[in-house]
Amino acid sequence: MTDLPKVAWIGLGIMGSPMSENLIKAGYDVTGFTLEQDKLDRLVAAGGTAAGSIADAVCDADVVITMVPASPQVEAVAYGPGGILANVRPGALLIDMSSITPQTSVDLAKAAAEKGVRVLDAPVSGGEAGAVEAVLSIMAGGEQADFDSARPLFEALGRTVVLCGPHGSGQTVKAANQLIVAVNIEACAEAVVFLEKSGVDLTAALEVLGGGLAGSTVLARKRDNFLNRDFAPGFRVDLHHKDMGIVTEAARTVGAALPVGAVVAQLVASLRAQGDGGLDHSALLRGVERLSGAEV
Ligand code: NAD
Repeated sequence: MTDLPKVAWIGLGIMGSPMSENLIKAGYDVTGFTLEQDKLDRLVAAGGTAAGSIADAVCDADVVITMVPASPQVEAVAYGPGGILANVRPGALLIDMSSITPQTSVDLAKAAAEKGVRVLDAPVSGGEAGAVEAVLSIMAGGEQADFDSARPLFEALGRTVVLCGPHGSGQTVKAANQLIVAVNIEACAEAVVFLEKSGVDLTAALEVLGGGLAGSTVLARKRDNFLNRDFAPGFRVDLHHKDMGIVTEAARTVGAALPVGAVVAQLVASLRAQGDGGLDHSALLRGVERLSGAEV
């Protein structure tokens, strides 16, 4: 038995699987539900419990965590007779760690409050490696008291854990994060094509670039993807396309101009339209190669 809150985890994908496993390692009792049987088997092998439905997963949970692709999936798991809000105990805390529109988070918090359920939006940055290594950045939105109660759990998942403001604020910060990451990957991809066409040794170039002002977490984490043309996800282009839509729309709403972000959003959309949506976002390199006349 443990004094730690009992956790229900909905969405055991590239991020949800390693994150839920880190909670199990930290001593949490985790019951999970997701659409793929192999991911449920993986949870059980790690010491968790597989549920047959969302209702089964959440009915006696103190904390419910969702980590699903986008706003429609968050709404699908939260609402309706088989959803989280209809089946969770009043007083429970619902933490949505998916990257979704800030408005969806605000609406969810409002609907949940009517059922006595507390909500935090808590999207993450750090990628699959950050999830596996429990070094994610976690950007939260919601009430201070709810954030304080969730902090020990967040600290089992990440290294930088910050409450950014009221409901939806975590998602707004995550949208900014995705803007910075996409522009950074595109810049790295353009540099890679430029360096290779110039006949410079790419391994040497990326090593020295990584040590100077051009260095970044993106360059460090995606260096081997570029060098080996390894585009297994990671973070799928489809999901980054979704996030560029979120940041573009949110910026439009507040009157912020994102000229470079808008171009990169188009490059991500183009990559997806050319059939690369299932690849890691470092595959922006393939888009630059196509533009530069290379066969990819
Ligand atoms: P993924 O596609 O690998 O996993 C999503 C999971 O959600 C799947 O296992 C699927 O079964 C589950 N799911 C979908 N609909 C469901 C439903 N109705 N009921 C139960 N489960 C359902 O995605 P991911 O890469 O793990 O990303 C999850 C979220 O985290 C996204 O919002 C993404 O933008 C964000 N994110 C991803 C990364 C990354 O590097 N992969 C990094 C930071 C943030």
